[in-house]
Amino acid sequence: MRDNKGDRTYDAIVIGSGISGGWAAMELCKKGLKTLLLERGRDVKHIQDYKSANLNPWDFDHRLLNTREDQLNSPVQSGFYDEGDKMYFVKDEEHPYIQNNAFNWVRGYQVGGRSLTWGRQCYRLSDLDFEANAKEGIAVDWPIRYKDIAPWYDHVESFIGVSGTNEGLSHLPDGNFLPGMELNCIEKHLAQSIRKNDEHKLLTIARVANLTRGWDNRGPCQYRNLCSRGCPFGGYFSSNSSTIPAAMATGNLTLRPFSIVSEILYDADKQKAKGVRVIDAMTKEVYEFSARIVFLNASTIGTASILLNSKSDRFSEGFGNDSGQIGHHLMDHHSSAGASGKHDGFSDMYYKGRRPCGFLVPRYRNLPGREKMNFLRGYNLQGHGERREWMDTTAHEAGFGKSFKEKLSNPGPWTVWMAGWGECLPYFDNKIALDKDQKDQWGLPLVKIDFSYQENEKKMMDDICASSEEILDKAGFKDIEVFNYNKVPGSTVHEMGTVRMGHDPRSSALNGNNQLHDVKNVFVTDGSCMTSSACQNPSLTYMALTARACDFAFNELKKGNL
Ligand SMILES: Cc1cc2nc3c(=O)[nH]c(=O)nc-3n(C[C@H](O)[C@H](O)[C@H](O)COP(=O)(O)OP(=O)(O)OC[C@H]3O[C@@H](n4cnc5c(N)ncnc54)[C@H](O)[C@@H]3O)c2cc1C
Ligand code: SF4
Repeated sequence: MRDNKGDRTYDAIVIGSGISGGWAAMELCKKGLKTLLLERGRDVKHIQDYKSANLNPWDFDHRLLNTREDQLNSPVQSGFYDEGDKMYFVKDEEHPYIQNNAFNWVRGYQVGGRSLTWGRQCYRLSDLDFEANAKEGIAVDWPIRYKDIAPWYDHVESFIGVSGTNEGLSHLPDGNFLPGMELNCIEKHLAQSIRKNDEHKLLTIARVANLTRGWDNRGPCQYRNLCSRGCPFGGYFSSNSSTIPAAMATGNLTLRPFSIVSEILYDADKQKAKGVRVIDAMTKEVYEFSARIVFLNASTIGTASILLNSKSDRFSEGFGNDSGQIGHHLMDHHSSAGASGKHDGFSDMYYKGRRPCGFLVPRYRNLPGREKMNFLRGYNLQGHGERREWMDTTAHEAGFGKSFKEKLSNPGPWTVWMAGWGECLPYFDNKIALDKDQKDQWGLPLVKIDFSYQENEKKMMDDICASSEEILDKAGFKDIEVFNYNKVPGSTVHEMGTVRMGHDPRSSALNGNNQLHDVKNVFVTDGSCMTSSACQNPSLTYMALTARACDFAFNELKKGNL
């Protein structure tokens, strides 16, 4: 519902309805605050708007393949979508940005943001991660430790539903999991080989926000591996399936799609934010909305760009930017290096359904008391084992008639593919800024991005190649191919940093409660708040930090401190 008239005053404003913004809206609404959720894209209603969810490959005009037009008009996004989910990605030509170095900025501008298309992998950070900067003298110290966030991980997992297996690792803490999905026979074989050959490594099923049984009025996953089209059963967590309906049910939510927040407005007398300025994406009319607290959840680069665009006499370099750090320390995991191989065994075995996740080999490098590598931090291996199926081969296999059908119905050999998801250090020079001259169709300055991986990430990638080759070799795999795709940064879609948390207002933008040091009624709880990247997929941490910050903000409001 777009509310153009009437009262524009709320208790809370949340900017962005993706993974973190959906959480902020739900938490604040449940606490009784009248909350305005501003989303720059269109509405996507759970179930009824998932138009492609039940289509077969032959139902699509191009059999799920992207066209030349896709590649020309959306050179970045088309590398991440297919015909079945392209409607949940922006068109690059409509939303340009400047790449000083190549950087894939993958976006979904709609209600739900990228919660519709994410890979759903959910891992907790540990004190190995929260203490690393301080111990190694890198960047600044995180102002929180695992004990501060652990109850909020519990809280989030209990609501979203995460399936997985507890493994008792201190550096990858266990959680409140639904039963994990099952490894197939080649993955079990690999798991046994890893256990036999190295007592410090293990292979486990991925921890994913896919339900292995009914959960909170959402149906269990049907093993179709079509999640990025939206799930008609509610089998995976998205803002659309979970947090936004829960927020709506309180009666406290006003959701306003097509609302591009251009600025946070500052009240110099009260030294607080008084609200936000919004451009209607369709009409380009400008509105102002006010609230007692503001949560920024427009995603890492979006949030930093709103703050940098919000200039006033008090904040000439961007809202809450006395430290000069906003926009800097952009990070993205690398996931380019790994290995694949074939296995001759298990030829009489197969699997049922299309499991929507793979396996995980948790981090095993630079753990306390173990060998120190020639790089800092570590990586985990993510991968899957499969027999090639007809859907994988149709686009590439030549043929016609009976022999073609036989080729397609013949399962291929067992294969395993795995790659390292590696930590990226926070470098000052990896950054976003706003261009002074070039503007988008709404008159907002274009974002420009500078980013490159450095020696530490490159050395880690070399180790991933060597280590994953060794793991496959020891498990009896053949035709092992070691790869480093050298993907363009941004391709792991785990961009984070740019509005980091820290103890000191001179070197960080946010305190330990995700509150701007300089303006106490503004909170930033998307990936921009991250002080380091760890190597775990990060969205679970954004959700936990969001729920925690909402609780803090609400208590501060009650005490009259905001
Ligand atoms: C293919 C893919 C696979 C992924 N797999 C995983 C995974 O397995 N595990 C994991 O942890 N993460 C994964 N991610 C990353 C994950 O999607 C993001 O970390 C997460 O969505 C970030 O949440 P967010 O709330 O910060 O941003 P988003 O979910 O992107 O939401 C931001 C919202 O803000 C809106 N917005 C932006 N600017 C404005 C503005 N000016 N005004 C109003 N609204 C605005 C956007 O339209 C959007 O709806 C994956 C992403 C992709 C694309
Ligand atoms: S694989 Fe499961 S969660 Fe994903 S769309 Fe299908 S049923 Fe839903």
